[in-house]
Amino acid sequence: MSKANDSIKCSISNCKHFHNSNSCKLDSISIGGDANSSHSKYTQCTSFQVDK
Ligand code: SF4
Repeated sequence: MSKANDSIKCSISNCKHFHNSNSCKLDSISIGGDANSSHSKYTQCTSFQVDK
Protein backbone atom coordinates (compact mmCIF):
# COMPACT_ATOMS: atom_id res chain seq x y z
CA MET A 1 0.00 0.00 0.00
CA SER A 2 1.22 3.49 -0.81
CA LYS A 3 2.14 5.81 2.00
CA ALA A 4 -0.48 8.04 3.61
CA ASN A 5 -0.17 11.76 3.03
CA ASP A 6 -0.94 13.09 6.51
CA SER A 7 -1.42 16.58 5.08
CA ILE A 8 -4.60 15.44 3.30
CA LYS A 9 -7.20 14.13 5.74
CA CYS A 10 -10.11 12.28 4.18
CA SER A 11 -13.04 10.07 5.20
CA ILE A 12 -14.09 8.79 1.76
CA SER A 13 -13.29 5.14 2.37
CA ASN A 14 -14.57 3.87 -0.98
CA CYS A 15 -12.01 5.96 -2.88
CA LYS A 16 -9.11 4.18 -4.56
CA HIS A 17 -6.70 6.69 -2.98
CA PHE A 18 -8.01 6.38 0.60
CA HIS A 19 -5.60 5.26 3.31
CA ASN A 20 -7.07 3.59 6.40
CA SER A 21 -5.43 6.19 8.63
CA ASN A 22 -8.18 8.53 7.29
CA SER A 23 -5.74 10.19 4.92
CA CYS A 24 -5.20 10.33 1.18
CA LYS A 25 -2.36 8.44 -0.53
CA LEU A 26 -1.90 11.02 -3.29
CA ASP A 27 0.81 13.71 -3.16
CA SER A 28 -1.77 16.31 -4.12
CA ILE A 29 -5.47 16.45 -4.93
CA SER A 30 -7.71 18.67 -7.03
CA ILE A 31 -10.84 20.33 -5.68
CA GLY A 32 -13.72 21.40 -7.84
CA GLY A 33 -17.31 22.43 -7.38
CA ASP A 34 -19.22 25.70 -7.25
CA ALA A 35 -16.78 28.64 -7.30
CA ASN A 36 -19.38 30.69 -5.36
CA SER A 37 -19.86 28.04 -2.68
CA SER A 38 -21.40 29.12 0.60
CA HIS A 39 -20.63 25.84 2.37
CA SER A 40 -17.99 23.13 2.22
CA LYS A 41 -20.65 20.66 1.06
CA TYR A 42 -20.64 22.39 -2.33
CA THR A 43 -16.96 21.62 -2.89
CA GLN A 44 -15.70 18.25 -3.99
CA CYS A 45 -12.55 16.23 -4.51
CA THR A 46 -12.18 15.74 -8.25
CA SER A 47 -9.28 13.33 -7.70
CA PHE A 48 -11.77 10.77 -6.34
CA GLN A 49 -11.79 7.40 -8.09
CA VAL A 50 -14.10 4.62 -6.97
CA ASP A 51 -12.24 1.68 -5.43
CA LYS A 52 -13.42 -1.41 -7.27
S1 SF4 B 1 -8.52 11.38 -3.84
FE1 SF4 B 1 -9.90 12.72 -2.69
S2 SF4 B 1 -11.63 11.41 -2.06
FE2 SF4 B 1 -9.92 10.10 -2.66
S3 SF4 B 1 -8.84 9.63 -0.74
FE3 SF4 B 1 -7.82 11.40 -1.71
S4 SF4 B 1 -8.81 13.20 -0.78
FE4 SF4 B 1 -10.13 11.43 -0.39
